[in-house]
Amino acid sequence: MANIDKKENNVEKKVLIIGGGPGGYVAAIRAAQLGAKVTVIEKQWLGGTCLNVGCIPTKVLLHTAEILTEMKQADLIGISVEGKFDVDWASLQNRKKAVVKKLVDGVKYLLKANNVELIEGKASFIDKNTIKIDKEDGSSMEMTASEIIVATGSEPFIPPIKGSDLEDVIDSMDALSLEKIPESIVIIGGGVIGTEFATVFNSLGSKVTIVEMLPYILPPIDREIGKMTEKTLSKDGIKIYTGAMVTGIEQGENGIIVSVLLGDKEIKIEGNKALVAVGRRAVVKGLNIENAGVNLDRGNIVVDKSMKTNVEGIYAIGDVTGINMLAHVASEQGVVAVENIMGINTEMDYKAIPACVYTKPEIAAVGLTEEEVKEKGIPYKVGKFPLAANGKALIMNETGGFIKIIADEKYDEILGIHILGPRATDIITEGALALRMECTLEEIITTIHAHPTVGEAMKEAVLAANKKAIHTING
Ligand code: FAD
Ligand code: NAD
Repeated sequence: MANIDKKENNVEKKVLIIGGGPGGYVAAIRAAQLGAKVTVIEKQWLGGTCLNVGCIPTKVLLHTAEILTEMKQADLIGISVEGKFDVDWASLQNRKKAVVKKLVDGVKYLLKANNVELIEGKASFIDKNTIKIDKEDGSSMEMTASEIIVATGSEPFIPPIKGSDLEDVIDSMDALSLEKIPESIVIIGGGVIGTEFATVFNSLGSKVTIVEMLPYILPPIDREIGKMTEKTLSKDGIKIYTGAMVTGIEQGENGIIVSVLLGDKEIKIEGNKALVAVGRRAVVKGLNIENAGVNLDRGNIVVDKSMKTNVEGIYAIGDVTGINMLAHVASEQGVVAVENIMGINTEMDYKAIPACVYTKPEIAAVGLTEEEVKEKGIPYKVGKFPLAANGKALIMNETGGFIKIIADEKYDEILGIHILGPRATDIITEGALALRMECTLEEIITTIHAHPTVGEAMKEAVLAANKKAIHTING
């Protein structure tokens, strides 16, 4: 995005942002930096889904789950743990709340420091320039602005399965704050939320079953990584049914009973809870967006690459656009929207968006998968380096994964990077930069990588694409 500050930019604008999640609050700060007068309207929780009931709280639980798993295998790294150790769910919940509070307070402070006005209330459109704000105390007010950004996010999609309204059928938000760790849980949907919660509850001792409709879990992920993850999760004790259709949920003695069709056979799976994680949908209900004439497509707000809707002066960013429901995408879209409002022409580039799954081992990817390159008919080469040959992974006792590079056969341009292994979610940033800069294999090869790190496997994978890997035999 263009690097310009308010001294260079003398356009003065009033920007109204609906929603204070990672889309809305980042847009607000960037708009203020550019000299706009900014108001954020937030109905429930500053920081949005991500900080309050998404990215952050899930990773707090995953962090504890990971340490617990490692403690159980502490003897493998020379630690003898004596006596009983376990998770204290109540303190973990308190830690989760404390981390969330610290981050939300940080956002509040940043908005204040940037002179962004924050109004607590529920916004809806009266017309394309007028917003009504309903406050908790029953009062309401109106605001007008020539520039409005809709950043209202998403909510869990609950499919019309019989019994999905039972008390023990929960969504991801409920799963974060259960009173106690369930003895057993059936997770409907083997996507990102499903596999992350399966990792948490399995590590904490629950009996976990995943029921996935497709023939495999984690559909958008590189198939090789998806398959290996399925194997690892199963080996760790998670029961996974793929190609499985949930036909109904009923109340059982200890919670719920989920009926699942596997081919032509119906099975019943019991659990204390059933977590529904089959995707999320844009939050437009109650916004009266039709009063502004904004176009929707299957419930998502339609935008162009500058984040403009069909109505002049109205922009939409983040999950509500349904483009790619990730916090970092929402934030970047917010910056693009605001820069366009302030007279800087920028566009979203979706080529280099890193995607991460915080299972154990972690998964991270950027760019095209091998399946997508094949489908597009692009001549390509693959370089793969197993973490079994990486010193740091061996030290960490996590050698099960690999790094895979896909490059254009003719020009050696890097098209995709896929990682399964420890620190994958941190290392992927090098991959995102490589794709953003349209790097060739040679440019990574000539970049010196520190030793011993898991990241040096990136360079080896790139070398392998040209059959020049040093620490493995080139096939
Ligand atoms: P949101 O964060 O949903 O914020 C929208 C805000 O708008 C909310 O605060 C809402 O209260 C407010 N709002 C809605 N309607 C109105 C209204 N009418 N008036 C006023 N305010 C309104 N993404 C990642 O990148 N990494 C992760 O690790 C990750 N983990 C996740 C884990 C879970 C369990 C879930 C559910 C999601 C996760 N996500 C993750 C996705 C991420 O949370 C979203 O992509 C991100 O929060 C989208 O940001 P947003 O600003 O578009 O919307
Ligand atoms: P998802 O799209 O990742 O996965 C949903 C899964 O449910 C898919 O595998 C789908 O085939 C399956 N499914 C759909 N209908 C089903 C049915 N009736 N029965 C059984 N399976 C069914 O959705 P999600 O896991 O709910 O996550 C929503 C979004 O939240 C993600 O797409 C992602 O953008 C975001 N998120 C990101 C992270 C992260 O970045 N680490 C973590 C959590 C959530």
